[in-house]
Amino acid sequence: MAEANNTPYPYEAPVSQELFDRASVVTPGGVNSPVRAFRAVGGTPRFMVSGTGPYLTDADGREYVDLVCSWGPMILGHSHPEVIAAVQAAVARGTSFGTPGEGEVALAEEIVDRIAPVEQVRLVSSGTEATMSAIRLARGFTGRAKVIKFAGCYHGHVDALLAAAGSGVATFGLPDTPGVTGAQAGDTIVLPYNDIEAVRAAFAAHPGEIACVITEASPGNMGVVPPREGFNAGLKAACQENGALYISDEVMTGFRTSKAGWFGVDGVVPDLMTFGKVMGGGFPAAAFGGRADVMAHLAPAGPVYQAGTLSGNPIATAAGLAQLRLLGDAEYAAVDEVSEQLRGLVTEALTKEGVAHRVQNASNMFSVFFTEGEVRDYDDAKGQESFRFTPFFHSMLEQGVYLPPSAFESWFVSTAHDERAVERIAAALPAAARAAAEATA
Ligand code: PLP
Repeated sequence: MAEANNTPYPYEAPVSQELFDRASVVTPGGVNSPVRAFRAVGGTPRFMVSGTGPYLTDADGREYVDLVCSWGPMILGHSHPEVIAAVQAAVARGTSFGTPGEGEVALAEEIVDRIAPVEQVRLVSSGTEATMSAIRLARGFTGRAKVIKFAGCYHGHVDALLAAAGSGVATFGLPDTPGVTGAQAGDTIVLPYNDIEAVRAAFAAHPGEIACVITEASPGNMGVVPPREGFNAGLKAACQENGALYISDEVMTGFRTSKAGWFGVDGVVPDLMTFGKVMGGGFPAAAFGGRADVMAHLAPAGPVYQAGTLSGNPIATAAGLAQLRLLGDAEYAAVDEVSEQLRGLVTEALTKEGVAHRVQNASNMFSVFFTEGEVRDYDDAKGQESFRFTPFFHSMLEQGVYLPPSAFESWFVSTAHDERAVERIAAALPAAARAAAEATA
C-alpha cells in the first residue's frame, strides 16, 4: 500500500495513460465530460473497456467494483442480459428512422404509469435537454422570465442554470462560466438549498415575475443532501400561491430512489418533472413531462418549440423500456439493502480510524462527507475536509474499487452488487480510511 498522503497515485495504468495522452491531443482535457478527467483527485483516468454486473475492466486489464454505475443509469449492473437482448433485437431492425415508433409510445406509457403527476411526457436525448426544455415550457406557459434554482443543484449545462450561488439570499445569478452571458443568467435567482424562507422572500421581491422553481427532487450533485422535512412541499405551496410552476428534476433520482423516483418517496406533486439516466438503460434517453394542460403548450400541440433528430431513438427506447420493466419492488429492495450495507461499512471503517465523517443518503443514493455535522446545503458540503477524499479515493482505486472521482458526488449501486462485490469493498475500506485519517490539508 502506498503512502497515500504524500504520493496518492503511485501505481501505474500505462494503457489508460497512453489513451489519455492520445485523447488529450484531439479532445479538450482528454475527456468528453469534465469529471471523468480525475482533475479533483489527480492521477490517470481509467479508460474502461467492458462492464459486467457490478464490475468494470479497464484498458490495463484491471477489474474494479463499480460504485459510479455510469453516474446512475446502470441500476441493474452492466451488460444485463435482458437489456442487451432488447438492444440487439432493436439494432437488428435499424438504428434511427426519424419517424414516430411504437417503442417511444411504450416508454412514455411506462413513465406515465409509474409516475402519477406525469400525464404527458416528451422524450429527449439528455438530462440537459430535458431541464432546458422544461424551463422554456414553464416560461412559455406562464409568460414570465425568472427562474429560481438552488446553489449546489446541477441541472445539466443549461446556460441559465449554470449560475450558482453568490452569497446571501436572492443572489442574482452571476454567470459561473465564461460563455454564459449576464443576460442568459440574469433571470436566474440562486438561493441556498433547504431554505424555504429564502424562497418566500424571492417571490415577495419579484411579484408576478417568477416562471418556475427548479430543484433536484433530492439533490445528489453536491453529494447527497436530501430535502428537509416539508421543504419540497413548501416549494410546491410557494409556487402555487404565486402562479409559478414547480419543476422537480428527477434526472438522477427518477426510477432510482423508488419505482416512482423521489416522487414515490415524498409524494409532493410537481407541475413538471425531468428524467434521464435510469430510463435510458445506458443509452442517451431522457424526458420531461407533467400536467397535460402545461404540456399542451409544446409544439406541435402548442406554440413552445422543442424538437430532436434522435429524440425517442429506437435503440435507446428499447434499452430504457427493458430496464424499467425489470425494475420492480424486489429490485428496489435489493438496491436499498446493498446501499445500507455499504453505508454501514464505510461508517465503521472511518469511525475506527477516527475520521470525522457523515454518510448521507436518499434511499439508495448516498455519499460520504468528511465533516461531522449535518450537510443541509452547498456551503455545508463545501465546508468538509475534502482533502481527505483524494487519498481515500486512490486507496480504493488501487484496491479495485471505482468511486466517483470527486468528494461532491453520489455513489451508486445496482442489483448486481452481490455479496462478493460487497466483500471486496469491505476489504478495501480499512486501508482507505487509514489514508483519509493520515491526510493533511
Ligand atoms: N439533472 C440532474 C439532477 C443531473 O444529475 C444531471 C446529470 O448529472 C442532469 C440534469 C443533466 O443530465 P445529462 O448529463 O444527461 O445532460
